[in-house]
Amino acid sequence: MFGFLSKSFSSVFSSLTGNHKLTEKNIDESIQKIKDSLLESDVPYELAHTFIEEVKHDVVGQKVVNSLRPSEQFMKVVYDRLLAFLGGEYLQESFAFQIPSTIMLVGLQGAGKTTTVGKLALFIQNQAKKRGKHRKILCSSIDFYRPAAIDQLEMVAQQVGVDFYRAESSDPLQAAQEIINYVKKHNYELLIVDTAGRLHIDETMMQEIDNVQKIIKPKYKFLVVDAMIGQESLAVAKTFQDRIKFDYAILSKMDSDTRAGVAFSFRYALKKPVLFMGTGEKLDNLELFRPERIAKRMLGMGDILTLVENAEDKIKVSEQASLEQSFRSGSMTLDDFEKQLSMVNRLGSLSSMMKYLPGMGNLNISNAQIEQSEKEMKKFRAIISSMTKKEKLYPKILDDSRKKRIAKGAGVLFDNVDQLLQRFEQSQQFVKLLKKKKYFN
Ligand code: GDP
Repeated sequence: MFGFLSKSFSSVFSSLTGNHKLTEKNIDESIQKIKDSLLESDVPYELAHTFIEEVKHDVVGQKVVNSLRPSEQFMKVVYDRLLAFLGGEYLQESFAFQIPSTIMLVGLQGAGKTTTVGKLALFIQNQAKKRGKHRKILCSSIDFYRPAAIDQLEMVAQQVGVDFYRAESSDPLQAAQEIINYVKKHNYELLIVDTAGRLHIDETMMQEIDNVQKIIKPKYKFLVVDAMIGQESLAVAKTFQDRIKFDYAILSKMDSDTRAGVAFSFRYALKKPVLFMGTGEKLDNLELFRPERIAKRMLGMGDILTLVENAEDKIKVSEQASLEQSFRSGSMTLDDFEKQLSMVNRLGSLSSMMKYLPGMGNLNISNAQIEQSEKEMKKFRAIISSMTKKEKLYPKILDDSRKKRIAKGAGVLFDNVDQLLQRFEQSQQFVKLLKKKKYFN
């Protein structure tokens, strides 16, 4: 999702590491390269220019921090600026929907509104579940423009297990009133309303949504923006802002091959926070847009936190802690290694995990290679589980006879055991390297 940008940033940063002194020349070159990559990522020129000017300003006025090397100081300036651009740190972390209330979604046709109604319902229900609660949620649609939009929403609501209501009238204003009456009658805690979109901005649509919102009186107005349409989405958002005044944006289709330009620019250009991003077609593919994590991902610093969080529902807390701990401490045992392999197994594919790991976004890895690794992982897990506790803790004691026994127990070749040990050794080195590069405190 931020592959191109993080590759560019990583290459700029790695060209600076090793240089103990930052000169005006190499700073200028790096800044120019950053600007070029922003433009290539479909960031509008003025925004790329503003960003770069701010970075330059900060680099010049920067106080020297003794514990950081010059290249790291430069990285820090870029990171801080990027974070500010993306909207700072805290809003998303503390965000909670007020109950009872109403959410209204607006956006162009195809932006992903209907899907996002379901994603939001599921997200809010899951949040409540974590606190032992259940929310009474109703989804409804006032989209009489796109054929089958309402049927689609009915299916989506069914899939996520929330209620759905179909208004009888096909007049948007009457339908809005019917929905409100229904919510009151049945005491729903949360109403999520889908509205009609058009392929392009259109005054009739804007007028209709404006009239509908006067009846619905939503507490939250979300603009759903398709990240794939690039810079155009900023113009679309501007019109919605002028006419409807939305509160937050949701960037959909961030899983696609978009060049990250919208994610980079939206907050700064519109002065409106992005609260969520859609990361796939499935109804659980919705993530909070956390500027801090996204800044790290854009800079190729990976995002262990997101990885750990995605795993939250699937993996026991103690295992998570051990993964994080082993990364942080810069050391890892075969037991940790095995746990990580199992986590990958439960998390889904290796490829989806890779993008969260520091430096991995920078590697060109083909699907065939990933498949191969996934097969390998299965073998490795079998091998580790055939080891004794002592062997796992002190792999150095593994002589040929122990290896033979383990290979037999795991149903693999003798060589596979050696391969595992090599791979384990590499992972240990990698974790040490991360620690050394101060990815973790
Ligand atoms: P609407 O016209 O705004 O209601 O858009 P829909 O909800 O019908 O979505 C349009 C298309 O985009 C559908 O095929 C969705 O499956 C797809 N879509 C929505 N959100 C995402 C997302 O986050 N990622 C991807 N890859 N596809 C999405």
